[in-house]
Amino acid sequence: MTQTDALSIPLPPDEQALQWLWDVKTPGYVFDPSIVLARYRKLRELLDSRLIVSLKANSNLELLIRCGHGFVDGVELASLGELDLAVGRISSTKYVNNPSMDETFMRAALASRCVFIIDSLGQAERLIAVLGKQPAPQTILRLNAAELMPGRRKEAADHFGMSPQEAMLAAAALSRADVPVIGLHSFVGSHQFRVDERGGDSADLAHALAALAGDIERVAGAPIAMLNCGGGFGERFHEDESVFAAYRERLAPLRQRFQLAHESGRAIFAGAGLFATRVRAVKTLGGQTIAVCDGGLSHNFLLARTESAIKKYAAPRLLRRQPAPEGAAVQPVRFVGSTCSRADVIGWQPDPQAAPAVGDLVIFDQCGAYHPSYSVSGFLSLGAAGAYIHQTGETA
Ligand SMILES: *Cc1c(COP(=O)(O)O)cnc(C)c1O
Repeated sequence: MTQTDALSIPLPPDEQALQWLWDVKTPGYVFDPSIVLARYRKLRELLDSRLIVSLKANSNLELLIRCGHGFVDGVELASLGELDLAVGRISSTKYVNNPSMDETFMRAALASRCVFIIDSLGQAERLIAVLGKQPAPQTILRLNAAELMPGRRKEAADHFGMSPQEAMLAAAALSRADVPVIGLHSFVGSHQFRVDERGGDSADLAHALAALAGDIERVAGAPIAMLNCGGGFGERFHEDESVFAAYRERLAPLRQRFQLAHESGRAIFAGAGLFATRVRAVKTLGGQTIAVCDGGLSHNFLLARTESAIKKYAAPRLLRRQPAPEGAAVQPVRFVGSTCSRADVIGWQPDPQAAPAVGDLVIFDQCGAYHPSYSVSGFLSLGAAGAYIHQTGETA
């Protein structure tokens, strides 16, 4: 098995080795905790820093129970629901991070001793008000990446975090209320990790945070120990290790003064999940086979690519119950879902092949991150996709 294979659930050509997939109730996800942990460890090693897990990429409880112990640098929680999942199950640091955090979420996060990522001066003031006489939590100030690096490309601008000026005000307010500010944070966005000579890259972001730390320390009156430099690592981060080598080299000067951290959801979970669906009906239309499946965009929204201008559909693995008949006609296959939406196309096999049959299994890989959590369940009362744990390696 190659290194790359060990970071995704193996789908070898030999169908005997895939017999276990016939037991999966469809439509459903398969998660492998040993792959999650292998990916976590690989990314952490490539970064040589702390690595915080963004649970919003996959908040499946059964999976968390089996791999939470390995998330040694903590988890990032974006909602009260995620906090409820993590409480009692994650013994490392819990970071709460959401601009919309209300008093209820804050109280719950205080009760479970979370570290607060502060998104705005208003949020700092709200936390101070909620706090009253309780022991103060540790806080980290979130900087807006475009404000922090004004030279960066315009399209990177989003509505998260503060300008450096506002962060100074937040630091001052928190320190007046005896709330410690222990770090700075910035996140440019998913898939935004890059190390190149085009300016405003991921290493420049880390240095911009470090440059601001001195000013923040002066108003906060205490050292800034931690820089969370965000992330934006892709599903296939492991395929180019030289980028990480260059990144580590550029971050080296910061390590004497700061504890460095990064965060990721996608890179950790992507290859650790499959989506399985069954063919329910088959027909021919416009020179293509249409395979209608029991799962579709209401179980796996991202496969339908509704948010992409260019719809490049995934090519699933087809497992046939019976071999295709000798001499059967061949056509490309369009895999569609079970809703009545014209957008419910989930896969495409351009290579002409014999039509699938009712009952055949259709397997999509790379579905461990966001595919389960970012789907609109409830449409047509179809019910939620199932989840199935299949472990191929060690999780110790
Ligand atoms: C969603 C989110 C992440 C995780 O993004 P991935 O693309 O899954 O790595 C990290 N940090 C913050 C602040 C986020 O909102």
